[in-house]
Amino acid sequence: MTTRPVRHRVPASVVDVVRLSETFVRITLVLGGAHGVRFDDPAGWVKLFVTDPDTGAQVGRAYTVRQQRFAEIDLDIVLHGNGPVARWAEAPLLGEVVTVAGPRGGFTHPEPGPAYLLAGDESAAPAIASILGSLPEGHGRVTAILEGGEHELPPVDPARTSVCSLRRRAGTKKGALLAPALRALPKPSANSVIWVAGEAGAVHEARRLFLGEWGLERGEFTAKGYWKYGEADHRE
Ligand SMILES: Cc1cc2nc3c(=O)[nH]c(=O)nc-3n(C[C@H](O)[C@H](O)[C@H](O)COP(=O)(O)OP(=O)(O)OC[C@H]3O[C@@H](n4cnc5c(N)ncnc54)[C@H](O)[C@@H]3O)c2cc1C
Repeated sequence: MTTRPVRHRVPASVVDVVRLSETFVRITLVLGGAHGVRFDDPAGWVKLFVTDPDTGAQVGRAYTVRQQRFAEIDLDIVLHGNGPVARWAEAPLLGEVVTVAGPRGGFTHPEPGPAYLLAGDESAAPAIASILGSLPEGHGRVTAILEGGEHELPPVDPARTSVCSLRRRAGTKKGALLAPALRALPKPSANSVIWVAGEAGAVHEARRLFLGEWGLERGEFTAKGYWKYGEADHRE
């Protein structure tokens, strides 16, 4: 799957809002003026610009494109209640026009199908779901570790896939369970795809494990802080 290198910045209308769970809302947008552009590379993302409900300013944050159907895209947004986009996502208006910039990032499955280790908190669950939904024929074993919240995942081959859901107890910080869960695993086989995203501190711990105990080189894994405690619009 290839993504056009051009990044588009297009208006998009809210056409559907579905509360998936206590944690997530799915917002479906119809893109204007971007026909034929693919926004659906696994773990590919866009910058979503909305009006901050408190200040009226335009703010942009990164969101994974969970699915694309022609000019429609689904974004699954964590309702953490703390930032302008999370607050906007609590009550978007049908027909409201926002701005979407992208596509960005994204993931190309290597050939031939390797083993996969995927891990993240709820902010990374849409990306992990999109990777799981696009696994190539003949892929190897897949281990997916998802901390916090029950996100809907695409159908997977149970013989080759184990999904581990880590539930936080009240008072456990987001991200706290990820690194210990990764540490409990054996080092993945050579050429495995290793992909981790979530709270920046937890991802930092994962990176230390990969570079330290597992002895991997930086190019052998992806580890990306998707947000950071106490920091608005965290970027890595
Ligand atoms: C490539 C990429 C893809 C992403 N995909 C998704 C996605 O599909 N769905 C999704 O929900 N998020 C996703 N994120 C994370 C999202 O961009 C951030 O959570 C963003 O900070 C949310 O913006 P905000 O306006 O709600 O909060 P901000 O204004 O950025 O932050 C305000 C406060 O909220 C806190 N905060 C931010 N995010 C969270 C959170 N998840 N839980 C608890 N506290 C938080 C911050 O620490 C800060 O104190 C992605 C990030 C990246 C880089």
